[in-house]
Amino acid sequence: KKDGELYWCLEAISPLKNEAGEVTHFVAITEDISARKQTEQTIRHLAFHDVLTGLPNRRLFRDRLNQAVTAGQRNKTGFALMLLDLDYFKAVNDTLGHDAGDALLTIVATRLGERIRSVDTLARMGGDEFALLASDTSRPEDVAALAAALQNALRAPITIQDRELYLSASIGITLYPDDSDDVDSLIKNADIALYRAKDLGRDNYQFFTEDMNSAIVERVNLANSLRRATERGEFILHYQPQVELASGEIGGVEALIRWRHPELGMVSPTQFIPLAEETGIIVSIGEWVLSTACRQARDWELAGVPVRVAVNLSARQFRQGDLAEKIGAILRETDLSPRLIEVELTEGILMEDTEQTSATLDTLHRMGVQISIDDFGTGYSSLSYLKRLPIDILKIDQSFVRDIHTDPDDRSIVTAVIALAHSMHMKVVAEGVETAEQLAFLREQECDTIQGYLFSRPVPPEGILSLLRSRTRLTS
Ligand code: C2E
Ligand code: MG
Ligand code: MG
Repeated sequence: KKDGELYWCLEAISPLKNEAGEVTHFVAITEDISARKQTEQTIRHLAFHDVLTGLPNRRLFRDRLNQAVTAGQRNKTGFALMLLDLDYFKAVNDTLGHDAGDALLTIVATRLGERIRSVDTLARMGGDEFALLASDTSRPEDVAALAAALQNALRAPITIQDRELYLSASIGITLYPDDSDDVDSLIKNADIALYRAKDLGRDNYQFFTEDMNSAIVERVNLANSLRRATERGEFILHYQPQVELASGEIGGVEALIRWRHPELGMVSPTQFIPLAEETGIIVSIGEWVLSTACRQARDWELAGVPVRVAVNLSARQFRQGDLAEKIGAILRETDLSPRLIEVELTEGILMEDTEQTSATLDTLHRMGVQISIDDFGTGYSSLSYLKRLPIDILKIDQSFVRDIHTDPDDRSIVTAVIALAHSMHMKVVAEGVETAEQLAFLREQECDTIQGYLFSRPVPPEGILSLLRSRTRLTS
């Protein structure tokens, strides 16, 4: 331009010829395309950057990661890849709204950006997840220091909508070339390490290790086969008798789930129930347990040996809200008397949501279903819920029973729980009774019922039937 400014132009030049066919002039048409060039530039930027924070996005980050791997192979240099995820960010979005969430993410991007070198790439991978490629940095000490610095950068309170928010972040780290030399696996490794950091209570960083990988692979595989186990009929219920001390007879049984895994054999519920809870699979498993136990109880009732079946319920099932209706439907379907079914709850369930919990329990109680508290004394034992809720039975956890004859504290706890329950018109079941000494003590304290290996292990339904038919009794 006349003022010396450069600009983009598109020019079309045509020659003009005279009659002899010689070129005498040129006609040039010039168009200023600066605006178009600007738009192209913006589009390219948008394709590779995050709109909110202006940081590189996932695509550009992958590209940089590819370059870093190529450079690493050529120069024999290493680098670190970190994935950083804000802890409890969802709570901010949910309670303060998305504008607040966006403002927070922008501040985070700025704070992180201030801590890194210009050769490093900081990117926003989506949501509240950021990624950092730290070039030429592969000594674990240096990488750890950098991770700690990033976490510290986020720690100063952030004021949004007149509120002070305290942030923390979890970080997963993987090193090139030690952990892998392939972009996809590097990202996967960092992700696994991040998951571990979250799992360990958040606000920490974790380096990827091979163990993590195999543990994760194992979990994912287990969760997958767990998902299919119901339809494949791999679950069965075993039943453990509960013996009434006054009569010596079997007053009820507890249904305990077993998983016949096609390759792993019998898998204990202590291994898969927590995984089923986390993944939500427990809801469908729980329904299977309820209807199977009710059908079994009905079979025994029809065979002339009615016995009450106790079923363990998970917190997740309780939270569904329609538990009482579901149990009601199963009872109608199986035509079972409600007094032959008992639900075992944990103290955790009772602490969670008092309104809904008491409504559900009241409905079950009115239907005639027995309600017991499992592993009593190991959770948040609160005496107020014992008063408020319609509870019939307390099950003393086996950890208190185990050392009855060696630990005076355990003896006092067991004695006190039995007295407490009786004064509130509840029955007591002692779990995990294995020895005659334990039995003698429990008898002396007027415990109502015992359950444990001393009398019988959990057994398949046929085992219970023969115990009932033969009228096996507990003798002291
Ligand atoms: P729990 O409800 O407290 O069940 C008692 C556990 O103690 C059972 O373990 C039982 O086999 C074991 N046990 C019984 N008597 C003795 C004894 O004398 N000594 C010892 N050492 N152990 C004894 P199991 O079957 O492995 O079940 C473990 C836990 O898994 C159960 O603890 C329960 O919390 C959960 N669970 C089992 N089945 C189900 C189910 O169908 N649904 C849900 N949500 N959880 C279940
Ligand atoms: Mg139980
Ligand atoms: Mg228990």
